Amino acid sequence: MDLNLLTVASTSTAIAERATTATQLAEGFYKKIEAEDGDVHAYLTLAKERALAQAARIDALAVKGDPLPPLAGVPVAVKDVMVTRGVRSTAGSKILGNYIPPYDATAVARLEEAGAVILGKTNCDEFAMGSSNENSAYGPVRNPRDKSCVPGGSSGGSAACVAAGTAVAALGSDTGGSIRQPAAFCGVVGLMPTYGRVSRYGLIAFASSLDHIGPLTKTVKDSALILRVIAGRDPLDSTSAEVPVPNYLEQIEKPVQGLRIGIPKEYFAEGLDPEVRAAVETAIARLEEAGCKAVPISLPHTRYAVPTYYLVATAEASSNLARFDGVRYAYRSKAARSLSQMYRNSRDEGFGAEVKRRIMLGTYALSAGYYDAYYLKAQKVRTLLTRDFENAFQSVDAIVTPTTPTPAFKLGEKADDPLAMYLADIYTVTADLVGIPGISVPCGRSKSGLPIGVQILGRHFDEATILRLGHAVEHSLA
Ligand code: GLN
Repeated sequence: MDLNLLTVASTSTAIAERATTATQLAEGFYKKIEAEDGDVHAYLTLAKERALAQAARIDALAVKGDPLPPLAGVPVAVKDVMVTRGVRSTAGSKILGNYIPPYDATAVARLEEAGAVILGKTNCDEFAMGSSNENSAYGPVRNPRDKSCVPGGSSGGSAACVAAGTAVAALGSDTGGSIRQPAAFCGVVGLMPTYGRVSRYGLIAFASSLDHIGPLTKTVKDSALILRVIAGRDPLDSTSAEVPVPNYLEQIEKPVQGLRIGIPKEYFAEGLDPEVRAAVETAIARLEEAGCKAVPISLPHTRYAVPTYYLVATAEASSNLARFDGVRYAYRSKAARSLSQMYRNSRDEGFGAEVKRRIMLGTYALSAGYYDAYYLKAQKVRTLLTRDFENAFQSVDAIVTPTTPTPAFKLGEKADDPLAMYLADIYTVTADLVGIPGISVPCGRSKSGLPIGVQILGRHFDEATILRLGHAVEHSLA
C-alpha cells in the first residue's frame, strides 16, 4: 500500500474492508516520519503511545465485525496550538516547552471519537503568529514541494505533513489565513469554517474573535469528511453555534450549474503575481464551463483589511497572552529575585521576537488615549468590511479570489521585514474579520513548479457551497 496515495476516504474504506489494520498503518506512518520528516520538520512531538492505543481499539472493533466510526484508523496530525491530553503542546513557543495538558481540545476529542489516529503535533509559528513558519521556537518547516521555500504559516507543519504524505490529513488554525495560505503554498486543500462552526475549546488562544480550527487535506472530499466530524455546537465554547451540520459529502456532489460567483476587482489588482493570476483565472473559466456565472463585484474596503487585522489581532493577543506569567504553568525564569522580575524575565525569556512585537502593538492599541483612535476605529472598519460582503452576497453565492499574492517564497526572504510578511495575508485576513468560511484549493503550478491556490469564500455557515465549488475546481483541473 502506497502511503503517499492515501486519502481520508480511501483509508477508512481500506480499514473497513480489512485490507490493512489501523496498527499497521500507524506503524507505517511512524516509519515514514522517521525516514522523511528530518529536513521538512513538520512534527514537533509524536504521540506514539496514544496513537497505537487508539489503533488497537479500532482493530479490535474491526475484528469483532462491529460497525466502524467514520474516520476509523485514519492517521491525522494536529497543529501544536491545540491541546492534547498527555501529549506535549507547545504552540511553537519556548514558554510552553514542557506543557503537558490534562485535557483535549474538542476538535481533537471529536476526531478521536470518530476513530482517527492522532500521530502527533505539528510545527507552527509561535502562538500561530506568522506566515512562513519561521517564527517557531523549534526551527522552521521546509516546503516539501521545494525545500528552499517556506511552507507558509502559521499552520506550516500541518500543510507540510499532508503534502509530504507523513499524515493523511491534519488540523490547523486560521486567524488571518493560517490554514488557507500554507495550503496554497504546499499544494493541499485548506478549509477555514465559519466562525462558530467548530468549537475553539482547547485551542490556545491568539485572537479569540478571529481564531478558527479547520482541516488541511489532499482532497476537498476529505475536508468535507473531517468538517462533518469536528463541526457543531459544543457546550464548552459559548461562541460555538447551534446550527445544524449538513452532510457535506452529499452536498459536494451536486452540480455547480447556475451558481453565481463574484470576482472582486480589488483582489486582482497591483501586487498579484502574473502566474497566480493566470492559474486563478483558469479555475474561474472552468467553473464557468461547468455552468457557473462569474459576476464582477467590488469589496470597496479591502485595502483597510490588513491594518484592521493587525490592530484587532494584536489587541486580543496582548490580552490573551497575559496569562503566561510563569506562575501557574509554563516556563518560569530561574534568574529572578522578586515577583515582578520573575514575571518580566519569564516573559522575556519565554516569548520570541514576533510575539513580543504583537504584544507591544496590541497593548499600545488598547492603551488609554489610543483606544478610540486605533482599536475602536478598527472595530468600525470591521463592520464596514462585513457590509461589503453582505452586499456582495445579495447577488452572488460565493466569491473567488487568489489565496495568496505569490507562490511560496524562499526561507529567509521576508524574515527581517515584518510588513512584507504581513502582506502575504492580504487576500485571507478579511474572511477572518468577517467570520465567513473560506477554502483554498490547488489550481496549478508556477513555471518553477510551486503550487498555486484559489480561494473560495462563502456566506456564513454555507461551507457546503464552497466545498461544492472547490470540488468542481479540483475535478475540472485534474
Ligand atoms: N499570518 C497572520 C499573522 O501573522 C495570520 C496568522 C494566523 O492566521 N494564525 O497573524
